[in-house]
Amino acid sequence: MSRKLIVGNWKMNGNLASNDALVRELLGGIGQPACDVAVCPPGIYVAQLQSLLAGSPIDLGVQNVSMNENGAYTGDVSAEMLKDYGVRYAIVGHSERRQHQAENDVHVALKAKRALAAGITPIVCVGETLRERESGMTEFIVKRQLSAVIHLNGHCISEIVVAYEPVWAIGTGQTATPEQAQSVHAVLRAQIKAATEKADRVRILYGGSMNAANAAELLSQPDIDGGLIGGASLKSADFLKIIAAARA
Ligand code: PEP
Repeated sequence: MSRKLIVGNWKMNGNLASNDALVRELLGGIGQPACDVAVCPPGIYVAQLQSLLAGSPIDLGVQNVSMNENGAYTGDVSAEMLKDYGVRYAIVGHSERRQHQAENDVHVALKAKRALAAGITPIVCVGETLRERESGMTEFIVKRQLSAVIHLNGHCISEIVVAYEPVWAIGTGQTATPEQAQSVHAVLRAQIKAATEKADRVRILYGGSMNAANAAELLSQPDIDGGLIGGASLKSADFLKIIAAARA
């Protein structure tokens, strides 16, 4: 995998004015990045971000997508609707949605399917809780989560991005060590290789308290192809440092 991918997950933060300021700061400092870059604002702001990012090296992503195509699904936004706004990536299965919105592996696989059908790249999040890690279940959990997506999407899985996000590392400041992350990434890489001949196309991102200080070491691991960044993506200087650390 030659080009890394750095994605900012803004979660439920921002407003019209602060989004505008953040994007302008990013565009002012990004130059010609050596990696692919995307930001995922709250869904209500996709039109604003589409306009702010037009012609820039930063792609537009979202934090969720409906598992349904269209129709009587109050509150949902379909992949086709997001495509109308130039959305390139959709995070699916983030642990916060698995936890707070009761999303399960089947929902996540369906969301990935809808995104792929609309030409949007799903960023499929997998990761174990602290209790699961402590009971030696990390590999079992991440493989189960990813296998649901593989099972439903068949050969199309060469078009997905995977994000390994240990739940215990998200928003806690407790990053996985490069060795811990690399060993799970290697497991996921092997699983993807067994499922598609085009496994080399699939980027596996690390997420969980990645920041300006630890990004370079994490990103130097052989199977870490980029980062999914929450908190640090809201500070332009930090996000730009992570982008700068993501060379091939
Ligand atoms: C995330 O929300 O995907 C994430 C990794 O958050 P943080 O970087 O804040 O841990």
